[in-house]
Amino acid sequence: MAVQTAESRRAVNEISAKPEPVPIRKDVAPKPTCNICSCPYTETGLHTPRQIKECGRTICEQCANKLLNAKIQNRLVCPFCQKVTVVNGPAGSLPKNFALLEYSRDVVQRN
Ligand SMILES: [Zn+2]
Ligand SMILES: [Zn+2]
Repeated sequence: MAVQTAESRRAVNEISAKPEPVPIRKDVAPKPTCNICSCPYTETGLHTPRQIKECGRTICEQCANKLLNAKIQNRLVCPFCQKVTVVNGPAGSLPKNFALLEYSRDVVQRN
């Protein structure tokens, strides 16, 4: 009886797992780059991916600093959607996009 129960449970699992999601071909995906300067993002330094808080877009730290210096201090105007994010300090104080870095690392490993 115990064997039958396990067998039927496995059968149910197989049925529920049938519609398999299409796997993402990370091996052919391009490495994420900054939309402004086209430089590949790096873990630290000038091309650390920084998130523009108000719109969620990501640009590199160097470009974010340039935008901060060109306009009124503490105000970063998104070059894509013109939303203003108040930054209390340098671009380095913006949140780092860790998800993008992990994705980038994955792409590098597969290349
Ligand atoms: Zn950039
Ligand atoms: Zn934006």
